[in-house]
Amino acid sequence: MKTMIRLLPSVLLLCWPLFAGPRYDLLLRGGHVLDPKNKVARVADIAIAGGKIARVAPNIPADQARRAVNVSGLYVVPGLIDIHVHVYAATGRRAAYNGDNSVYPDGFCFRNGVTTVVDAGSSGWRDFPDFKDRVIDRSKTRVLAMLNIVGNGMSGGEAEQNVADMQAQPAARRAREFPNIIVGIKTAHYAGRDWVAVERAVEAGTLSNLPVMVDFGRFWLERPYSELILKKLRRGDISTHMYFGSVPLFNDNGRLHGYLNEARRRGVFFDVGHGGNAFVFRQAAPALEQGWTPDSISTDLHVASMNAGMKDMLNVMSKFLNLGMSLPEVVRRSTVNPANMIHRPELGHLSKGAEADVAVLRLVKGKFGFVDSWGARLTGTQKLEAELTIRAGHVVWDLNGITRDDFRQLGKYERQEHFEWDGTLIQRPPDPPSAKR
Ligand SMILES: [Zn+2]
Repeated sequence: MKTMIRLLPSVLLLCWPLFAGPRYDLLLRGGHVLDPKNKVARVADIAIAGGKIARVAPNIPADQARRAVNVSGLYVVPGLIDIHVHVYAATGRRAAYNGDNSVYPDGFCFRNGVTTVVDAGSSGWRDFPDFKDRVIDRSKTRVLAMLNIVGNGMSGGEAEQNVADMQAQPAARRAREFPNIIVGIKTAHYAGRDWVAVERAVEAGTLSNLPVMVDFGRFWLERPYSELILKKLRRGDISTHMYFGSVPLFNDNGRLHGYLNEARRRGVFFDVGHGGNAFVFRQAAPALEQGWTPDSISTDLHVASMNAGMKDMLNVMSKFLNLGMSLPEVVRRSTVNPANMIHRPELGHLSKGAEADVAVLRLVKGKFGFVDSWGARLTGTQKLEAELTIRAGHVVWDLNGITRDDFRQLGKYERQEHFEWDGTLIQRPPDPPSAKR
């Protein structure tokens, strides 16, 4: 008896795994995993525990998870990262990107598989705290930001041309104050014939050790695009709107200008930034044929672009698929590439221990139309849809309820486990028949 009592703790310890319950919260089974950073492109299971990726391997037993979901036939990719959006809604400013032109991120992103966005300069150093308070701090979407070199951000009209408000020192100070959120400096919409906006943005980027993203605004002879990407931008800076109609991509023979690849060799990055006005098939299609591919695919999301040809991240990604880019390369440019461009290497992949941001995508075959900024259509045969989006281990979008049980299999008053955002996995007690609703 004494021996038994002495042994009891060890026996209990041995049995512990039997009592501890499943070790994973959620298991995605049988999907085709595309994780470019880790060079994974094969069928595998993904186990999630405590909001992190716990394991990626074939045939993880279903009983090791509280919920196992069959995602066979679907693509499982890192949560998408869109580094050019406008989400500074809520100020009430009319016709401004730091106002009514912006979109609330949670109301739009998850249904497209997007878990991280970078607001591209809607706010500047003056109004960034307001943006943070009104949007960033309240969003489940991970919202990062590039600060506009204009202190008052994208207020529209003359305010964005106010050279006196383009100040590198305070912008860099603000960036250093919020290193977890501010990932770059932006200049946009500048109509002057000089380099002031670009130079001040680069100065702020140098002071804060952050990349600069340039929307070149007007294209002037006095301010050639070639000079921007060959001389003004530094290694790691980003030229957005790369397929904009005014970008001089081709020589008279329709061949790609040599300076473009020269700039790429210097380390300048090129971003799609589709938007309402900046994606033209007559630029993009021949450019892609000659190897002029984007480093990052992004939307330039705002109220106008989402209702025009851009629509959403998956629609923009689908355009590249239908222009001949392979799905793994499209995913690379929507996950790990943009993460690295904003110096956030912890994002954009499915490594063990990474925050569990995951998109489960369906590649639908059929006949689809895609519209560009000059009102032209591309007819395509494939289109991506978001079946499931997971942010930090929580199911935030589930198009067809694949994480749910059929209602016929549940007891009369039984509710299914939810992956609630504000807590860990919880079991809702069934309501007794007498409970008031
Ligand atoms: Zn933009």
